[in-house]
Amino acid sequence: MVIKTAVTIDWSTKTKVVYLGYFEGFKSVDFNSYGIPKPFLDAVLASAKDKELSGKSGNQSVFVGQGKHLGQRIVLVGLGKKDALTVDVLRKLAGEIGRNANASKLSDITIAMPKEVGELDSSWVGQSLSEGIGLGTYKFDQYLSKKEGKETPLKSVTIVAEKAAQTAIKKGAEKGVVVSQSVAVARDLANTPANDLTPKLFVDYVTKLVGKAKGFKVTIIDAKKAKQLKMGALLGVGQGSINPPYLLIVEYSGAANTEKPIALVGKGVTFDTGGISIKPSTGMGEMKGDMGGAAAVVGALNATMNLRPKKNILFVTPLAENMPSATAQRPGDIVRAMNGKSIEITNTDAEGRLILADALCYTVKQKPKEIVDLATLTGACVIALGNSASAILSNNEGLVATFKGIAEQTGDRVWQLPLYDDHLELLKSNVADLLNAYEGRLAGTSTAAKFLEQFVDGTPWLHMDIASTMSSNTTKGYTPKGMTGSGTRNLIEYILS
Ligand SMILES: [Zn+2]
Repeated sequence: MVIKTAVTIDWSTKTKVVYLGYFEGFKSVDFNSYGIPKPFLDAVLASAKDKELSGKSGNQSVFVGQGKHLGQRIVLVGLGKKDALTVDVLRKLAGEIGRNANASKLSDITIAMPKEVGELDSSWVGQSLSEGIGLGTYKFDQYLSKKEGKETPLKSVTIVAEKAAQTAIKKGAEKGVVVSQSVAVARDLANTPANDLTPKLFVDYVTKLVGKAKGFKVTIIDAKKAKQLKMGALLGVGQGSINPPYLLIVEYSGAANTEKPIALVGKGVTFDTGGISIKPSTGMGEMKGDMGGAAAVVGALNATMNLRPKKNILFVTPLAENMPSATAQRPGDIVRAMNGKSIEITNTDAEGRLILADALCYTVKQKPKEIVDLATLTGACVIALGNSASAILSNNEGLVATFKGIAEQTGDRVWQLPLYDDHLELLKSNVADLLNAYEGRLAGTSTAAKFLEQFVDGTPWLHMDIASTMSSNTTKGYTPKGMTGSGTRNLIEYILS
């Protein structure tokens, strides 16, 4: 998608459709300021007078041109209340605009916003508009034999803005294109069914994605190597499946090799039946997305390949399929993670933390500056936060502040939950160093995070539980129905910060 900027709207017949933003409780001056040609403007003002224009967020009204503007259209798009304007409001609006443009098979569109938008950071304005269009028009249709509108026809977007803001808007918008493409990578991975995305196929996908890109190194740890490295927790989860587990590491060198890397670790359970502690059948198909954490890490890898931040970064994805079978791990089994800690399995469905345990041990050995892990980890997170936010838990308040700040811009919301020593008490075993899961119903997200903390060896670390935000059952704003790729944009902003 090509992003252009302009100072004024080109009202010549070359411009087919112009999207104009306006607020709830608007004044006619809002419309006059766009320089709308007379016949159009009269129609708009008449509708405004008749109170047909609400300005409510997501509201769209179409005006068709007459006379010499025949064939042209104005789409008025509501921005909601003026004092509630944020970059995420723009992002959501852009998602709606993108789908509207695609449905109308438009190859280029013009977007103009009221002057109040100029009070927001210009690069974020540009980024949110292009990001919203990219995210909102995402489709997962490679399994449909009859594809409808497969080719996204939208090729060029002109953003109208003051001259002083144009450079920043364009730069932001170009970044937004990369970000939305990277989220599409994460969504594609999470939406791909488990018969086409085993741990091995995930490894193959990433290896191909990285290709021969300069500054990247791929390390693949297969089951045999994992055994040598004593990754008993990862192997225990994978042993029930004919598709063996892997630990995949991609190293990126964007800074001097004396600089410690930051590490992104993502849970990659390519399918989670629950194992012997099998899940109920309703909705189990969603568990093809139980590698959403790993998908977000690969999305961030894709952005790194394009934006090349001056950082050293480790991308770490433990991969396994959690199946019930004659060889599956049993409740009561005791496994030993790479750092020597023994774990009594109370529930084989608490497998994500097991594969993450070994991934974190491996990561810590690489001496990173900070670790951020993402995982579709606990049902308790969904109970606590609904679908409105991901949970963050950390041993480092600085990292918490960083992610809270990032999420305010990305709209990919996070909410901090506590990590108390009490939570470790709940993980006490009679026969091993730890239980893999507390068997009661208390603080499920916190106890899971407390478990993970036992494997980070004091490294500054933040855990993000994205179980609550992994999928959407409606199409709204910039989020189409299906897997959302949540966490990806927060990771990208983090590595660029
Ligand atoms: Zn599970």
